[in-house]
Amino acid sequence: LNVLDANDRVPDTADAMRFDREHVWHPYTSATNPLPTARVRSARGVRIVLEDGRELIDGMASWWCAIHGYGHPELDAAARAQLGRMCHVMFGGLTHAPAIELCRTLCEMTPESLEHVFLADSGSVSVEAAIKMALQYMQADGQTKRTKLFTVRGGYHGDTCGAMSVCDPDNGMHHLFSGLLPQQIFAPRPDCAFHEPFDPASLDEAAHILEQNSEHVAAIIVEPIVQGAGGMRFYHPHYLKGLRELADKHGVLLILDEIATGFGRTGKLFACEWSNVEPDIMCVGKALSGGCMTLAATLATRRVAHTISADGGVFMHGPTFMGNPLACAVANASLGLLRTTDWKTRVNNIETWLNESLAPCRSLPGVADVRVLGAIGVVEMNEAVNVARLQEFFIEKGVWLRPFGRLIYMMPAYVMARNEIGQLAATVFEAIQTNRHR
Ligand code: PMP
Repeated sequence: LNVLDANDRVPDTADAMRFDREHVWHPYTSATNPLPTARVRSARGVRIVLEDGRELIDGMASWWCAIHGYGHPELDAAARAQLGRMCHVMFGGLTHAPAIELCRTLCEMTPESLEHVFLADSGSVSVEAAIKMALQYMQADGQTKRTKLFTVRGGYHGDTCGAMSVCDPDNGMHHLFSGLLPQQIFAPRPDCAFHEPFDPASLDEAAHILEQNSEHVAAIIVEPIVQGAGGMRFYHPHYLKGLRELADKHGVLLILDEIATGFGRTGKLFACEWSNVEPDIMCVGKALSGGCMTLAATLATRRVAHTISADGGVFMHGPTFMGNPLACAVANASLGLLRTTDWKTRVNNIETWLNESLAPCRSLPGVADVRVLGAIGVVEMNEAVNVARLQEFFIEKGVWLRPFGRLIYMMPAYVMARNEIGQLAATVFEAIQTNRHR
């Protein structure tokens, strides 16, 4: 009760917000010139409630995560039940039911060849684990020259150093950290849109670059089908299929980063199903816990795991909060919900509604492209948008969207209704029509 009281108390909103502005670092912001920030009191279903009582329809699902909406009773109940047992216990030498159940479910849900699960505490850490697995695999296999990663431009895999090294080199991170980041091998971004006939040119180029460097490459790492934070582009399933074939041809591993795409977002349970390929290593996160707890996982095939473990080898990673029981319990509830609801119909419906409601944006001046895949809708502008101005307009209109670069995009909870999708899209239309993006 005391905790509830403390959270509900709003002694001085202005003072709290001043403190936030002056001392609290938000994602990708300046400490001295931060972007405007809204204060949230609570979140329920597809709505975020601000401190002043205004309700916003949330088009972001907290960056792909909250697929069932906020405050789902089954997820909350799972957290409460687990709180009564234990919040956390170290995972070295100890295990517990929530983690075992989660790993079993992940083995069942993910592509068949993935049999070993490493529990990580964020998406970026699961990518670090995947990279280290690939390198350890090659070391254990005696292929010690294979120390590089092969990836494509336009990708995003997280903000830790290993993950950053395979993000798009033009996203501003590479030059800042160039003294620290390992140099990886990049192919051009897949230039073959999902909804268009397949153009093999960029795959051919990737094949050529890999061919020239293959003796040094441990793994190919990509986001399957959707390049998210690197540009919200959807590429053709044939491209991913081609990468799988190239990986096999050159004896390198294929790491798929399903952190954003996993658990139904693209209309398939995992985006790799569009191409009918199975990875050697796969990262999942974000929606894994229904967006409630920080949790991710790296899965590997038997071949990868057993090669690393041969001759007394151990996998060299072990975060303090690995296998956090509270996070696992909530994830179990979230995956249970996903398995028992008709998420596919919901995502297909959202795809239809996004297509119909975003279509009018196509004819607006300044709009370069409108694209939809599953429960992802993107309006790409010709020029970078004014995020602060747009955000203010969106809040005024009762929606929550967070544009970046040239992109105004949405990835709502799967439980969003048609009229709510319509309201998000109509607000985007009005914002562009009335020039709020400038
Ligand atoms: N990979 C992809 C594809 C992502 O979209 C993200 C998060 N935006 C990450 C990795 C990193 O995950 P996290 O922010 O949980 O570290």
